[in-house]
This record gives sequence, structure tokens and C-alpha cells, in this order.
Amino acid sequence: MTITQETIEIIRRYEFAFQKKFGQNFLIDEHVLNKIVNAAEICSDDVVLEIGPGIGTITKAVAKKAGKVIAVEIDNNLIPILKDVLKDYDNIEVINADVLKLDISKLGINKVVANLPYYITTPIIMGIFEAGVPLDSITVMVQKEVADRMKAGPGTKDYGALSLAVQYYADPYLVANVPQNCFMPRPDVGSAVIRLRKYPTPPVSVKDEKLMFTLIRASFVQRRKTLYNGLRNAQDVCFTPEEIQEAIASLGKGEAVRGETLSLQEFAALSDKLGEIRGNS
Ligand code: SAM
Repeated sequence: MTITQETIEIIRRYEFAFQKKFGQNFLIDEHVLNKIVNAAEICSDDVVLEIGPGIGTITKAVAKKAGKVIAVEIDNNLIPILKDVLKDYDNIEVINADVLKLDISKLGINKVVANLPYYITTPIIMGIFEAGVPLDSITVMVQKEVADRMKAGPGTKDYGALSLAVQYYADPYLVANVPQNCFMPRPDVGSAVIRLRKYPTPPVSVKDEKLMFTLIRASFVQRRKTLYNGLRNAQDVCFTPEEIQEAIASLGKGEAVRGETLSLQEFAALSDKLGEIRGNS
């Protein structure tokens, strides 16, 4: 039986009704399934977190290679289906919970694999990075546009706060673009599989991470604004216009520079300079 036939059969058998509010678009393409599992480079030592197992399609494929899979599903209606569909596997634990409310640092995982619910992609990814779990990688299906933003570099239209946040923690690699007909039901947007290989330590060193991310967010609130205006108008950036000017000048940049042209290294230097100025005042 193909995954498509299997999915249709399970949905009929359990009279399952898709819930749009949970971002339920189940994967029905074997080729894409293999690409996800291969890109995740799963081996028998791995403890893999799967976010949103749905009817267990990716869960089963991952469980065949991993030591253990912990599958976290929010939809109560999917739990009895998962119990049944996964009954022959003794290395899968299903947790009925909202992944955003779970303390994932306690799960003992080293990899994440998922066809993510698109409506919460950013909070899920940032929550995992900020939890400080010693992960190897995150391999996920996301909206195509979000994958483009995650791997974009300075000066491009897709570059923004998400690019910088992701690239501070991980090295992004686009595994595949995935068309709408690979899902049931078809999503309204294109999709892509992206692998984020986590760095053991961030590629730049910065004295105050929190300040750097505050500056990054402020710089991209209004893309058309100069970096100076972006920082000066931001509510949570508490530096005087003179301090901001001095810090920007220390990067060797002119007054008209836009935040969207700054690299991660430059944001780290800007943050350190502002921290230093404040320390001296
Ligand atoms: N993995 C399945 C597949 O590929 O066929 C389903 C993927 S579907 C895009 C997203 C899944 O995430 C759904 O099963 C949905 O119910 C679940 N989900 C949505 N929000 C969630 C949350 N906050 N916590 C855990 N699971 C969630």
C-alpha cells in the first residue's frame, strides 16, 4: 500500500476529521518521507523528538532507525489512532500535549524531526534553541517562504530577524522543496524541508545575547528605515541618539546604513559597543 492509500484508509477507518486550527496537512509522499529521514541522519543511539505525529507516518519511518522516538501530539482525537497504528513499535512514546507548553530540556532528546504545524513554526524553533538542549539537528518541513528566510544572508529580501536568530544557533541547509500535492489536505502554500545543524557554540561571540537580539528585532521592525532610526524609535532600546550614532560609526558604516545589510558579526559588534558605551557612562 502507498502512503496515500494508507492515509485514506486510516482516515476512513477512524472517521478522522482534519482540524485546520492545528495545521493538519498530512504527508502522503514516500519520496519526501525518505528525504526527511535521510537528511536527519538518524542512527540507533538517537532519541528523536517528533512534533505533531498526525497519524504516525514520519514516526514509523524514524522509529525504524532511531533508538527512541518521543512524539508530541496536541489533538486528542489522534491519540487512539496513534496507539493503534504504532502498536508494533516498542521504541515510540506518544505524549498528548501542546509542544509549546512542554519542557523539552527534560526529554533527553538529541534530534528533532517534524512536519511542523505552520502556524507556530517560529515559536517552536526558537523555543527549542532557547531551551539550550544539546541538540545535533532539527530537520523540519516548513512553509517554503519561512525556509527561505531561515537561510537568507544580509542584503537579500528574505533576510531578517529569523535569519539571524536561526544562524546564531545553527547552519541551515535546504533539503528539498515540496509541492502542495504531497499533502492531504493540500496546504495553500508551498513547503520545504530544511535541516538546521546546531553549532556546539555560536559562530560569533557576544557579551550580551539578549541585547543583541533586542537590537536585531528593532532593526527589522520597519525595513525601509535606517538602522539609526530603527534603534532610536524602538521602545525597548534604551540608548541615547548620540550613543547609537557612536556605536554605528564604530562599525565603519555611514549614517544611512540599513539594518538589513548588517551581518551577524556586525550585530554582535554593535551590541558589544553599546554595552561598552553604557558601561563607561
Ligand atoms: N507528522 C504528520 C504528517 O507529516 O503527516 C502530521 C503533520 S501536520 C502538518 C502537524 C501536526 O502537528 C498535526 O498532527 C497537529 O495536530 C499537530 N500539532 C499542531 N499544533 C501542535 C502543538 N502545539 N503541539 C503538538 N502538536 C501540534
